[in-house]
Amino acid sequence: MRKYVIMGVQGSGKGTQSQLLCDDLDLVHIAVGDIFRWHVKNHTKIGAQVRRTMTAGELVGDDLVERIVRERLDGHDWNYGFVIDGFPRNDRQAEFFMESFDIDGVIHLELPEDEVRRRVLSRRLCPNCGMDYNLIADRPQVEGRCDICGHELITRADDTPEALDARLRDYNEKTRPVLELFRRKEYVHDIDARPSADEVQQTIREALRLPDYKPQNS
Ligand code: AMP
Repeated sequence: MRKYVIMGVQGSGKGTQSQLLCDDLDLVHIAVGDIFRWHVKNHTKIGAQVRRTMTAGELVGDDLVERIVRERLDGHDWNYGFVIDGFPRNDRQAEFFMESFDIDGVIHLELPEDEVRRRVLSRRLCPNCGMDYNLIADRPQVEGRCDICGHELITRADDTPEALDARLRDYNEKTRPVLELFRRKEYVHDIDARPSADEVQQTIREALRLPDYKPQNS
């Protein structure tokens, strides 16, 4: 059983790297932001509660976040373990998490702020199947259309310069202290997120002493 936390500023590739790790090792990717986006898209009661907060790039209240995480983990569909992404984001969430789970490692993706802005503002998302694109490094084959399902791509409502500023502020003020807490417990592996997705994945494998990564098209 492997339980990893993946941390890093917006646009550092947490989703992509989690997915590569999970697909290969049969782990479950638990992305708290994706769970909230699902609620917004499906107009649930929770969706109505969080929509405005998310659009502004602000953090959802801890009680609701903890409930969502607990319910998701209580599903116990993660026989081989999980990678949790987007959580914990502040000290209280970290305490809640550490009370319930032991952690095998924290993957910290590092990316300079100018690169964060460049990546986030060129990010596009398929609202139908969830596939992520980037107009700089990972363009869709047909402009504005998802390669997988053909649906029209959108910009995430919180990928605006204003919302990004709010998210970066929260990251620096609230999430970085969590990283320092984990660092003191010697969980943290710092990973340079600037190289290609395949290279970053291989570095993660080495840091966590996992089998080498074999890119699918090699
Ligand atoms: P993300 O996709 O991780 O950037 O999350 C998108 C949005 O969901 C965030 O900007 C928050 O509004 C909300 N969210 C996700 N995870 C958390 C969390 N752990 N605590 C509070 N809000 C969160």
